[in-house]
Amino acid sequence: MASSPPTQDGKHPPPLPAREVAGYCVSDGGGKGRAGSPLPAAPRTECAPCQRGPTHYAAGLPAREVAELNLRFASQSTPEVLAWAWERFGNRAAIGTSYQGAGLVMLHLAKMAGLTFPVFTLDTGLLFPETLALQRRLEDFYGLKIEVIEPDLTVEEQADVHGPELWKRDPDLCCTARKVLPLRGKLEELACWLTGLRRQQSQARAAVDIVELYHLDEETGREIVKVNPMAHWSREQVWSHIQKHKIPYNPLHDLGYRSIGCMPCTRKTAEGQEERAGRWIGFKKVECGIHTFLPKKVDFQI
Ligand code: SF4
Repeated sequence: MASSPPTQDGKHPPPLPAREVAGYCVSDGGGKGRAGSPLPAAPRTECAPCQRGPTHYAAGLPAREVAELNLRFASQSTPEVLAWAWERFGNRAAIGTSYQGAGLVMLHLAKMAGLTFPVFTLDTGLLFPETLALQRRLEDFYGLKIEVIEPDLTVEEQADVHGPELWKRDPDLCCTARKVLPLRGKLEELACWLTGLRRQQSQARAAVDIVELYHLDEETGREIVKVNPMAHWSREQVWSHIQKHKIPYNPLHDLGYRSIGCMPCTRKTAEGQEERAGRWIGFKKVECGIHTFLPKKVDFQI
């Protein structure tokens, strides 16, 4: 049964100082001092209830609670974690998914619990046709609309600015432009970001907590709560759930792709390799940056 979003009493916390996202670029935080042409500003949207702009509310989760929540959630189910996020943040919590297996399961568990989180995805313009088709299948299956977040520059416009096939020369810059900055713009609208990260996916993700608190903007004090309700799931558990409930999935998985991103940067993996070993072959790169660009406010391991 669908539950209603929790009320916010029609009130918001006092406004934080407005921060101009315009000018945020690869030489301004996104690229660690890298020289390069400034990228267009991340998109900004107004807060629908009060039209005061996206930066006026803080995350609403005191840092001291993070450790307590992680201890509590270590022995609770994924639906219980999702229910907490819904009760705490309502539709200011959103599921971000690239349609990997764990994200599909999380969408299913939320749907079964009647938790109508908004759902968004990042479309770099370089996704597999199978991935785009899956998006439409999922919208039909779950009866929801997935918000598509796109970079400001098309692939062709990026080539005009940075040269063709930037991913072959500088995948960090390409990911920053096509994933990190668009995501950052989306997070400005939210208090809580729900992801399908799993510890088993790679060494880089082995220490993921269920609840994490990040600085979204240290200048203004703006924070974002990141919730990873699938952190403890194994790959086998994920695919057992998908098959049991006949959830649509990317057919590329059946061809040997275990982690699927952009076409130029995704390859099949062999048995025994890490799940994400097929990403950015030939580069010392294991993450696109969307899970690493924010500074953590609370560091706590279960
Ligand atoms: Fe560019 Fe590859 Fe990153 Fe996609 S995954 S944004 S193509 S570098």
